Amino acid sequence: MSEELDPFVIAQKQLDLAAEVMGLDPQAHAILREPMQTVIVNIPVKMRDGSTKTFTGFRVLYNNARGPGKGGIRYHPEENLSTVKALAAWMTWKTSLANIPYGGAKGGIICDPKSMNEQELENLSRGYIRALANFIGKDIDIPAPDVYTTPQIMAWMMDEYSKIKGYNEFGVITGKPLEVWGSEGRGDSTAMGGMFVMREAAKMLGIDLKKAKIAVQGFGNAGMYAYTLSKKLFGSNVVAISDSKGGVYDPNGLDLDKLLKAKQETGSVMNYEGGEKISNEELLELDVDILIPAAIENQIRADNADKIKAKMVLELANGPVTPEADQILFEKGILDLPDFLVNSGGVIGSYFEWVQNIGGYYWTAEEVYNKLDKIITKSFYDTIATQKSYKEKGKKISPRTAAYIIAVDRVAKAMKARGWY
Ligand code: NAD
Repeated sequence: MSEELDPFVIAQKQLDLAAEVMGLDPQAHAILREPMQTVIVNIPVKMRDGSTKTFTGFRVLYNNARGPGKGGIRYHPEENLSTVKALAAWMTWKTSLANIPYGGAKGGIICDPKSMNEQELENLSRGYIRALANFIGKDIDIPAPDVYTTPQIMAWMMDEYSKIKGYNEFGVITGKPLEVWGSEGRGDSTAMGGMFVMREAAKMLGIDLKKAKIAVQGFGNAGMYAYTLSKKLFGSNVVAISDSKGGVYDPNGLDLDKLLKAKQETGSVMNYEGGEKISNEELLELDVDILIPAAIENQIRADNADKIKAKMVLELANGPVTPEADQILFEKGILDLPDFLVNSGGVIGSYFEWVQNIGGYYWTAEEVYNKLDKIITKSFYDTIATQKSYKEKGKKISPRTAAYIIAVDRVAKAMKARGWY
């Protein structure tokens, strides 16, 4: 992996930039440049042919000055420690910007979940929890689902942890199925939060969402709900969508049933009946009002940032814009709203699940969405206000740097109050 695209190098660069602009105490900066704890485990798993295979897993607790670690677990063949560390750092800024009482963490296992059957996945998930039981807990570090991990996997993990402890500990993990006290509204809370940010940002830019053209990269949890909710909540016209194989574009809008049919029958939305087949690169460069990257990292880079035509980039994926591209978009006057603001609805939804588990009192989906709206809308306006206040001091900073400054300042102040520096 080139240094430019190494996720942890990117995360450190983003922090360095914010630290310089805000004049962060060098001692706090040094603490925040590295994770507090990195655990690597090797998990023996019984496979369907009777053999035992060993899988490597990670759990990184980046910082817990403001509360227990919080962050998802990813199952991916190319999982690596640099990515997990970067995502754990971003979780720290995400929970701080949302002002919820958590630090940041992340986990992952190097595996190919698509080639494993259900029993193998269950064995692996339970093994991961046995290996990490002393490093997680409702007041220590609370995992959740992420790429290729599901509510079912969270249920197995919660069950394994509860068996080890000898009592039910529903609050150890979020993103669980409703049957074992997941939260109403958690399934689409990431995209829902992104929609609330998009609503406020559109107001600020004078974009009429009813008439706006939107392109979405990715058709998973984040992308599919971004598609359905932008139509349902605002009546927006989603003109392009893609998955790993490619995408489809129709200036008159796309139909969900036809998208689902193409995905189910052919494995990709690119085989949608009608419209024009496009590549993922072409999708990013379409003449639309709003571009929603909702797939993977490093999609908008120094080599294509100049070709982006959207007025707003809503980063629903983690890390879709590199620091170099961030600067180019900023100079072009495109409002690029950072991932740890836009997709914080997921962790805010998780926070609500944990609060309900601890309190043993459960809310309706409407209550969840209303509370989510309040928190994420405040994060958006905090970010814009910080950007403005720096501009008044003669420093032009991007929304990402502004959001970093808020988040880093809160963590630094908590560490200071606790006497860490
Ligand atoms: P997912 O696995 O459900 O979906 C991922 C989608 O991206 C799939 O449609 C896949 O086909 C597509 N994709 C994969 N490689 C691609 C490529 N090279 N080009 C274009 N598309 C590609 O994952 P998800 O949960 O929707 O997560 C998507 C992004 O959103 C990730 O960056 C994730 O970290 C972030 N995110 C998700 C949540 C959540 O609650 N689901 C919360 C916060 C952040």
